[in-house]
Amino acid sequence: MEIITDPPRRMLVVTPHPDDAEGGCGATIAKWVQEAGTEVVVLMCTNGDKGTSDREMLPEDLAAIREQEQRNASAFLGVKDVVFLAYPDGTLENSLEARRQVVREIRRHRPDIVFCIDPYRSVSHTHRDHRMSGQLALDSAGSYAWSYLHFPEQISDEGLLPHRVPEAFMWSTEKADVYVDVDGYLEAKADSLSAHVSQMRGRNPEHRLDRIKEGTARQGEEVGLAHAEGFRRLRFNLDTLGWRYLNA
Ligand SMILES: [Zn+2]
Repeated sequence: MEIITDPPRRMLVVTPHPDDAEGGCGATIAKWVQEAGTEVVVLMCTNGDKGTSDREMLPEDLAAIREQEQRNASAFLGVKDVVFLAYPDGTLENSLEARRQVVREIRRHRPDIVFCIDPYRSVSHTHRDHRMSGQLALDSAGSYAWSYLHFPEQISDEGLLPHRVPEAFMWSTEKADVYVDVDGYLEAKADSLSAHVSQMRGRNPEHRLDRIKEGTARQGEEVGLAHAEGFRRLRFNLDTLGWRYLNA
């Protein structure tokens, strides 16, 4: 168990649907942007076009609404850029093409940490897109982004360079081992979630803040903090032995 007190310079948040990143690491984003000037890029994998119980809603209309809501939520947290891959909700795959797209953003933004959903939960279920987005993020960073030989056209034609991501922090995990003290940033997290208006119908903002307080207090208890967001850390160890061809 470790409390993270050294914010990264740059982070990339790979996330499946509009509102997942705010729920998973919204307070951490707000804190690091405000206190350390961390540059945060959100990579939104799907367009969330099935996320409604309204029978009259058309998927293309919902996708447009949710894209704007995501822009608003991210702007609120101080995110530098949001990149939309726009796969239809429920169709995300850990495909070669999707990895090419995620690798491109890793090489463009060169993050110190990739944030994603933990795809390896063992006792609880999560949405298929959640698992796919987590796997996609980890595979792209761990197996592809660092090598000149993967997606070489990004290097020859787009002017990008390989990038070694040091580590990933995974939210929605069953095994958190690193924590960020988010006291003072709970309102920012609640307000960023409130920006997803289409997803929050009938839910009371005060109730939302109460639930965030409870959730972050529960996580904080693990490390003696009043309020924390917890993550599972995965170190890619791309600089250590066995990877000599990285230095070619
Ligand atoms: Zn989701």
